[in-house]
Amino acid sequence: MTVAEHPKGTGSPAHPKGTGSPGGSLAHANVVIIGAGVSGLGYANWWREAHPDAKVIVLEAESEPGGYCRTVVRDGFVWDYSGHFFHFKDPAIEAWLRARMPGQDIGTVERIAKIRYAGRDIDFPFQKHIHQLPQDEFIECLVELYFRPTGEAPPRSFGEMLYRKLGKGITEKFLRPYNEKLYAIDLDKLDVDAMGRFFPHADIADIIANMRKEKTPQGYNATFTYPAGGAIQYINALLRDLPAGTVAVDEPAVALDLAAHTVTTPRRTIRFDHVVSSAPLRTLAKICSVPHDASVFTSNKVLVFNLGFDRKGLRDLHWMYFPDPSLVFYRVGWYDNIIGGDRQSLYVEIGAPDGATFDVDALRARVLADLKRERIITDHQLVAHHHVVLDPAYVHITKSSLAETARLKALLAARDVHSVGRYGGWTYCSIEDNLLETRALATRL
Ligand SMILES: Cc1cc2nc3c(=O)[nH]c(=O)nc-3n(C[C@H](O)[C@H](O)[C@H](O)COP(=O)(O)OP(=O)(O)OC[C@H]3O[C@@H](n4cnc5c(N)ncnc54)[C@H](O)[C@@H]3O)c2cc1C
Repeated sequence: MTVAEHPKGTGSPAHPKGTGSPGGSLAHANVVIIGAGVSGLGYANWWREAHPDAKVIVLEAESEPGGYCRTVVRDGFVWDYSGHFFHFKDPAIEAWLRARMPGQDIGTVERIAKIRYAGRDIDFPFQKHIHQLPQDEFIECLVELYFRPTGEAPPRSFGEMLYRKLGKGITEKFLRPYNEKLYAIDLDKLDVDAMGRFFPHADIADIIANMRKEKTPQGYNATFTYPAGGAIQYINALLRDLPAGTVAVDEPAVALDLAAHTVTTPRRTIRFDHVVSSAPLRTLAKICSVPHDASVFTSNKVLVFNLGFDRKGLRDLHWMYFPDPSLVFYRVGWYDNIIGGDRQSLYVEIGAPDGATFDVDALRARVLADLKRERIITDHQLVAHHHVVLDPAYVHITKSSLAETARLKALLAARDVHSVGRYGGWTYCSIEDNLLETRALATRL
């Protein structure tokens, strides 16, 4: 199964297909929202809270709402499109969602994440646990950290920042090979701040102080919440208060006339007061016929395999990072250790450049062989599987993408079209960030 920017699907009665035809009578909505993922549905809720009588239409290209927060249930396994875990900084957002999920089993989990490095399991983040390496490699990392190249001018790229902040040892053992597998790009092409707050920064004092600390998870997702029914439960919470028929599935926005204030789909033309779009910015610019530099919007794509086995595997582990370039995957996660279960239930992620094609059967066989090599499976039998391609997955944040994103967002906003979300903002962010951003936009508008 492939997630595309303009897929075709079958529709569902709960979220009816749009009616009418382009050229037929002109519909009107106060707000047209493009995309029924977290951002689009978040905005629909925030806007309706302030304007309960307003007409809101959410156009969704796929056959069901949810965007990347969808869940697949197969043979008793519950799988997301990739592990989607929730880390809330704003208690009001979490409380708002939970109020719309009565009776649900929502676990709060203290993260256990490791890095498989040369046959050892090192606690995440790597840079704070170099004391768990063999002694010679620990000394190498420490010495390289102390004598790392500093400089007068700030680092010019993400790649240079790694060497300048953490030294050659830490960078070349983990940060560079891992991030090259994930982003599928030369790290010197990425902006210094390409990962924003998601990069676990640490200075020498943090790293040394951590050597005597109890093992406690650190970073933005040290604890996370997860509903037993999967990430889609948060989408269901966002759908709960929307009037029936608000979301039109299988109905992509295919053209947007900025002067006439109309959106056209394969079925109708809708006149709007304002639009909020969570479609990838490069798609939005295209459907608005706005001249733009499409070459700056590069990204990786991620092939996710969800794999269900006949019995339990490793315990006390939620996910693991694999910097070794000879292994096909960069990360593996264990749903059964998060939501419970007596059968090993994995997500396995493979990064690839824009434009890459996947031989899914060959890659699944390769994944199983690599899982065996890493002793994650032994004589386990694969009893269920699913795959999905996330495209785009991690956008490449560069100086040019930042400049073109800011220019396009301002130009479109001046014409009442607001581009939001992870791909509308061409950025690195979490689900909570999507909800915070759309809440702030609804308040401002
Ligand atoms: C591998 C991976 C793992 C992640 N893990 C986490 C995690 O653990 N925790 C976390 O908080 N975040 C995580 N994220 C981030 C999270 O997925 C995003 O922040 C969030 O899903 C973005 O929601 P969105 O609504 O902005 O975009 P999307 O989910 O992409 O939704 C956009 C919607 O717009 C629709 N669309 C596109 N074009 C059109 C069109 N022309 N007309 C109509 N509809 C259109 C799409 O079909 C889609 O449904 C992860 C992301 C990835 C890639």
